[in-house]
Amino acid sequence: MRVVVTGAAGFIGSHLSEALLDRGHTVVGIDNLLTGDMANVAHLRARDFHFIRHDVTRYIDVNGPVDFVLHWASPASPIDYLELPIQTLKVGSLGTHNALGLAMAKGAGFMLASTSEVYGDPLEHPQKETYWGHVNPVGPRGVYDEAKRFAEALTLAYHRYHGVDTRIVRIFNTYGPRMRLRDGRAVPAFMSQALRNEDVTVFGDGTQTRSFCYVTDLVDGVLRLMASDITDPVNIGNPDEVTIEEIARTIIRLTGSRSRIVYRPLPVDDPKQRRPDITRARTLLGWEPMVGLEEGLLKTVDYFKRRLVAG
Ligand code: UDP
Repeated sequence: MRVVVTGAAGFIGSHLSEALLDRGHTVVGIDNLLTGDMANVAHLRARDFHFIRHDVTRYIDVNGPVDFVLHWASPASPIDYLELPIQTLKVGSLGTHNALGLAMAKGAGFMLASTSEVYGDPLEHPQKETYWGHVNPVGPRGVYDEAKRFAEALTLAYHRYHGVDTRIVRIFNTYGPRMRLRDGRAVPAFMSQALRNEDVTVFGDGTQTRSFCYVTDLVDGVLRLMASDITDPVNIGNPDEVTIEEIARTIIRLTGSRSRIVYRPLPVDDPKQRRPDITRARTLLGWEPMVGLEEGLLKTVDYFKRRLVAG
């Protein structure tokens, strides 16, 4: 297949592109490098990977046939979407519109990278795909949450109205190599701090929970969903739920760090708990995460150590 990946130079986009190449597909990667980094795809340039530097909020022009569009472009770290609120809203709305338009014009399949943020600060736990969510539309996180909720609605409108063959994956917290040192999300923040023996900044009292999925497991779930015919949203994430304090302590231990934990104010609308119900992925895709938290964190620590040495 010839697959277009928007956001290909990002953390997940680059792993996805690589996995597609490994399976013999051709990849056309598109990225405006707002939060992505060419270093993530430099090693793919010698393969059947074609890069277009482009902002997908503007008309997307791809020559030749396209079999599938994976729409991954978006800022995804809270510090990014707080700093880039309008770009975040535009890529979720205009960018999704253009990516769907490309899929329709080429007769290609389409997958939206959606998010557990569509559930907001959830009142239902764990979160099933049938839960409608609890989102503050006017809070600072609303720019990401509402853009993705709109993107889901638009994706299903293209499916229902235009007959585009669509998929929606709701991605829960994912971590692994190629996250940025200054990404701001919990795992890369704690790792960068712990490896430098700096204070590890836990927001709030650290009792809020998340469930962290290693990137190769996430990619496996995405490829299974792509090969399926499921147009309803599917959660992909690891159901192993931990508190933020626990993950900070685990990272300090695994890095052998002398860092102390310090407590900082909890960001506005920070979800108190999050864990995917993955019954749908298990039963319909036969998918199950395979990489345990410590195993995945150790692989990620190796990457961060190399990046810190490289400066
Ligand atoms: N967090 C933290 N310290 C940091 C970064 C994040 O305590 O330096 C907390 C954050 O408040 C949230 C959790 O870790 O409760 C996960 O945050 P992240 O930014 O990774 O993603 P989110 O799940 O909130 O989108």
